[in-house]
Amino acid sequence: MSYAKIHLDVPLNGPFDYRTNGLPVVKGSLVEVPFRNKKQVGIVIDVSENTNVETRRIKGISSIIDVAPLSSDYITLCRFVSEYYCFELGRCLFVGLPRSIRMNRLGKEYLENVYSLTVSGRLEIAGTLDARSRGKQRLYEHLLSNEQTVLADARRIYSNASKQLTNWIQSGWIKVQQRDLHEFMKVDRAISVTPKKLGLTESQIRSVDSISLDLNGAHVWVLQGVTGSGKTEVYFELMERALQSKKQVLMLVPEINLTPQLKDRLQRRFPSERIVTLNSGLGDSNRLIAWEQARHGVASIILGTRLAVFTPLKQLGLIIVDEEHDTSYKQIEGVRYHARDLAVYLSQLKNIPVVLGSATPSLETYHNVLRERYKRAVLSDRPLGSLPTIELIRVFRSESHTLSPQVIHAMQSKIDDGEQVLVFINRRGYAPALFCSSCQWSVSCHRCSALLTLHKRPDHVRCHHCGYQGRVPSRCGECGNQDLHDLGHGTQRLEEEVAARFGHARVIRVDSDSTRRKGSFEAMRQSIDQTQVDIIIGTQMLSKGHDFSNINLVVILGADQALYSGDFRATERQFQQMLQVSGRAGRGSSRGQVLLQTEFPDHPIYQHLIGHSYDDFAIDALKERELSDFPPYSYQAILRASSPSSNSVENFLNRARLCALDLKSEAIDVYDAVPAPIHKIAGLIRGQLLVQSTLRKPLRIFLKRWMKEISNLNESGVRFVLDVDPIDV
Ligand code: ADP
Ligand code: ZN
Ligand code: ZN
Repeated sequence: MSYAKIHLDVPLNGPFDYRTNGLPVVKGSLVEVPFRNKKQVGIVIDVSENTNVETRRIKGISSIIDVAPLSSDYITLCRFVSEYYCFELGRCLFVGLPRSIRMNRLGKEYLENVYSLTVSGRLEIAGTLDARSRGKQRLYEHLLSNEQTVLADARRIYSNASKQLTNWIQSGWIKVQQRDLHEFMKVDRAISVTPKKLGLTESQIRSVDSISLDLNGAHVWVLQGVTGSGKTEVYFELMERALQSKKQVLMLVPEINLTPQLKDRLQRRFPSERIVTLNSGLGDSNRLIAWEQARHGVASIILGTRLAVFTPLKQLGLIIVDEEHDTSYKQIEGVRYHARDLAVYLSQLKNIPVVLGSATPSLETYHNVLRERYKRAVLSDRPLGSLPTIELIRVFRSESHTLSPQVIHAMQSKIDDGEQVLVFINRRGYAPALFCSSCQWSVSCHRCSALLTLHKRPDHVRCHHCGYQGRVPSRCGECGNQDLHDLGHGTQRLEEEVAARFGHARVIRVDSDSTRRKGSFEAMRQSIDQTQVDIIIGTQMLSKGHDFSNINLVVILGADQALYSGDFRATERQFQQMLQVSGRAGRGSSRGQVLLQTEFPDHPIYQHLIGHSYDDFAIDALKERELSDFPPYSYQAILRASSPSSNSVENFLNRARLCALDLKSEAIDVYDAVPAPIHKIAGLIRGQLLVQSTLRKPLRIFLKRWMKEISNLNESGVRFVLDVDPIDV
């Protein structure tokens, strides 16, 4: 009799033993098994003739799922994630799998209906849409921008999609075809198009040359290139070399918004390669197809956000992590992995190089460069144009979010010259606070310890932490006064002010509210690109990676906020963001200008900023970190707990703390349990407990033992998670 050791997507430490029932399972096989009276998908990690479980209690595997087994490298990666982040292996193994596999919803014959517009549909549907049917409109736009769609995806866009598609089929506007999912196994024939290639600058050539010497072997390279220095071209050259030796390339980007244009650029550069994108924006079946194409080597370039680091790639030869400093590489739910760190691990596992690119490398990475654990290539100029000048404008704190006369003047003259202006403010909504003019009471969320933000069009208040939306209160909740004032500036208010001040300018606002609908970000990006707008008001969404050629003035408002923050990483974040957003200016032919409003123009951080001296900033900041034993000079983990009852959270964390004090070695510091910075969100009270060590190894050993103890604490109603290498404290 043989037994399979199987991991399931459950918060329990597996594996669980099952009889193989004569089914041909191997390590990595995906199977369906009975578990607690339900069918569950499981992953076989071992097959053996022995078991330690009483044999009559062992159930049998129900069936094998008809997909190729997972590779052993994949299992090794997940094992590492499980060990490092102290998270159940079972759950780690499922994190990166497409939902259709996780749920075993593959469809028996692998056939599914795909819908696409006919020529007449393309021409005629638009005329039948009226302004009220927004859902129909969205569905139509989706069909326009995707060659094909499946019902599940269409439904997500418009709940009534099934009926609508049937109507349109009857009008001859939509055609249905069946798609065999096995199609993805077929390799496209090479398309013979001449690739678009730029002649590289000297420093690009130098970078390519040094990094390519290391194309065989586990090397970590940092490509530190100022904004607009052409890092992408360097990646492309390196990719070309890897592709020539029939290897696959994994390229990670921080934001889903960055993928469409990058994919286009990649496809133009590598016309004969199959490129797939993997991100959370894909529908289930498209994600399954992309994943399978990647896994089977049909796709040679895999472009994705953090989750893509889990894609099993047999022929992986090179990993690129663009904007490696970006915090979106850190997963903040479930297993809290960091995709950049996993990319570095993968490079060791696979014995291949990884390139971490950024204009502003994270201080962790920078520290590794200084310690010579990572090698560095530098691009210090732009091939086109030059770096913008950054000027500081002194303002009072109360005015830091409003346009100063100097800024208004500069904006006017750029607009008169037909150039674009980007106004950066990292706060969405109309005003971040509403308060009573007589008793100072302010409107806060009833579910969170946070103020509600006022939004307009239509007027409402919204909680940016739990998503609550409600009517704007008409009177003070404390004294009944009807005179409520809104305070402060968000993107919407700024948009209103800018529109009033620059009557003839075309203004666009880009934030997560205005780009909620699928495809709307891309549409806005194009309208900026094609200079259909003059003034762009945007949040950090626009600070990353985008290459706009006509923005010549960047205005930065509200920059000082980070200087008031209690998080030791706040200035690093801020500096990176300021330099990145400044980098959007002057990518065209004329020299760009950046105006930053601040209360503290003499602050060293701004002095480094105006000199574009990231290195000076990083070295200073690292010195400060070293003095206080902060990362990267120490390693941290935070136990985060939440519960509807604040007593339970406190009890749990205090007990966990005693446990830690018992277990810990001398190398480990255990701090006091404290409330989280926002101590209530969506009705849950949140607390946290920090442990820290200057040595990685004893901390890892400690965490493992500690988590085992903690899982027996049984404080009712408390949920907890360990955040290893947290990025906010
Ligand atoms: P980064 O990623 O470093 O911010 P990009 O790779 O987006 O910079 O390049 C910025 C701009 O410079 C792009 O428009 C790109 O086409 C252009 N560029 C890059 N390398 C060269 C080159 N060698 N010659 C001419 N233009 C280049
Ligand atoms: Zn009041
Ligand atoms: Zn709330």
